[in-house]
Amino acid sequence: MNADLHCHSYYSDGLLSPSDVMRRAHAHGVELATLSDHDETAGVPEAHDTALELGMRFVSGVEVSVTWGDDQTIHVIGLGIDIYNHALSDGLEAVRGGREARALRIGDELAKVGIVGAYDGAMRHARNPALISRSHFARYIVECGLAKDVKSVFNAWLGRGLPGYIPHQWATLEQCVSWINGAGGVAVVAHPGRYWMEPKVMESFLGEFKELGGRGIEVLSSSHRPEKVEIFADYARRFGFLASRASDFHAPGESWTDLGKLPSLPPDLKPVWSELL
Ligand SMILES: [Zn+2]
Ligand SMILES: [Zn+2]
Repeated sequence: MNADLHCHSYYSDGLLSPSDVMRRAHAHGVELATLSDHDETAGVPEAHDTALELGMRFVSGVEVSVTWGDDQTIHVIGLGIDIYNHALSDGLEAVRGGREARALRIGDELAKVGIVGAYDGAMRHARNPALISRSHFARYIVECGLAKDVKSVFNAWLGRGLPGYIPHQWATLEQCVSWINGAGGVAVVAHPGRYWMEPKVMESFLGEFKELGGRGIEVLSSSHRPEKVEIFADYARRFGFLASRASDFHAPGESWTDLGKLPSLPPDLKPVWSELL
């Protein structure tokens, strides 16, 4: 099955509408899709309707921002959630609440290193001001000609420890997993290759995630190259996690891969969609 269980629309920091994301997924052969915007489910009904019209299967999704341990930002995908569940929707609303204040501070810090007008520039890229994110800043900085692509902006200014990085308290891991499980969903660790963690710290994170009721990990992700898949496949085996396949698509041309284009999961792993369909 060509399943792609992580992508974004313009309801968070993607460029396309939910319908256009589903059309692109379908054109790339995706058979099971989701929409997993950051801390927001407003695009899910539109994506759901378009996916079904196109003859794809669909599960609802969300990507929850979590602060764990020593100021680590972790993303957790909730799949198969009831988007009308109150605890989940109230929790997501609270998480969204911090974004604008953080964005103002990012703008101030970038001005100190000579990037002027970044807050206003990023806001122009954010369709929903409540969901302004670092990707919007990155697109503005690329537009100014200061970097060749979004990834270079993260490496030069926006990543952890860099001048435009502002730590922020998102949801706790416990809150996040309980919202997802309470809404009938499956919680999956997003893009594990992106976290700056020693293997020991990664193991303690995954152990805590499992203990709290987390059940899956993205074994295939745009955050790591196919040659690193075995590292994350191994975590799935050791922790008994369901395995997900996840392009984390945001916009055409922003990643080395695209919707529906990742390789297949290692055959011995249990795909997360076996629990969703
Ligand atoms: Zn993410
Ligand atoms: Zn994502």
